Amino acid sequence: MALNLVVLGPPGAGKGTQAERLARTRGIPRISTGDILREAVSADTPLGREVQAVMARGELVSDEVMSGIVRERLDRPDARAGFVLDGYPRTVPQAEALDRIVDGRGPLIVVDIEVPEAELVRRLTARLICASCGANADPEAAAVGAARCRRCGGALVQRPDDDGRIVLERLRVYARQTRPLVDYYRWRPTFRSVDGAQTPDRVAADLARAIDSVQEGAPR
Ligand code: AMP
Repeated sequence: MALNLVVLGPPGAGKGTQAERLARTRGIPRISTGDILREAVSADTPLGREVQAVMARGELVSDEVMSGIVRERLDRPDARAGFVLDGYPRTVPQAEALDRIVDGRGPLIVVDIEVPEAELVRRLTARLICASCGANADPEAAAVGAARCRRCGGALVQRPDDDGRIVLERLRVYARQTRPLVDYYRWRPTFRSVDGAQTPDRVAADLARAIDSVQEGAPR
């Protein structure tokens, strides 16, 4: 059966890291809408020019644009056997659009990674990413001043929207527009939440258990 996964959580919860691991271990594509938009901005496409200023302010791109991107991406053959969505949906209208997009493609499993806000601010303002491939730097290597990406050797830099003031705006936007999604999904038998204030390995283990329990139809 297709494994259709949504990873929810505030900015800095570790969605990207965990979605990447899930994609690898389960053999499904990771679809990060933030990565798709950042690539469009750096390639200076019409989409990139349209979204650049909104992203720089830490605000959300319109639901119509985002749902169009995701519909097109999920239509590609590699997503037929499943996918892990990272950064989408972010609003209730996007979640409603996603329900329509995946209608008839098997259950949608939604996992929410919970992390207290003070920890998010600390993580985001310390985060480094690779300037060439966009990967998150290993936090320990970054803390001791490693300057190169372990995946491609590119230079490590701060994401422009991880600047302190923008981080606070992104967390405000999350609280206002994205947290209501947890209530949208919470009552479904395919929803699980995990504690994200642990090491990445422990979060990954909890996520694996949560996903397996949904697939086995086990009670929470
Ligand atoms: P992320 O890498 O997921 O933190 O996304 C970076 C930025 O891209 C966000 O702050 C938004 O400006 C934009 N973005 C990414 N995904 C979405 C989405 N589903 N809806 C609206 N804006 C998005």
